[in-house]
Amino acid sequence: MLVRDNQTIWGVAMYSFHWVPANAARHASTDRRPEGALVYPSGTAVTTLCGKVDQISDNSEIAWLWSTCPECYEAALRMARAADG
Ligand SMILES: [Zn+2]
Repeated sequence: MLVRDNQTIWGVAMYSFHWVPANAARHASTDRRPEGALVYPSGTAVTTLCGKVDQISDNSEIAWLWSTCPECYEAALRMARAADG
């Protein structure tokens, strides 16, 4: 059975969250991305790890330079540590 899970792409352990610039900060989200997309396309409504819903992603170059949301960073760090065992 083909595993269509973010955890096992290319046989490398990957975390199930993705960074997403939205609302002037770089957040992380566990929402599914569109099939084949490496990032959430601009305009995608995402729920972030810091608990904000319907944040609209901005995939512009400038947006990726926004500072990281500290709450999302903490949540992402916890998930990464859990995934690493
Ligand atoms: Zn956040």
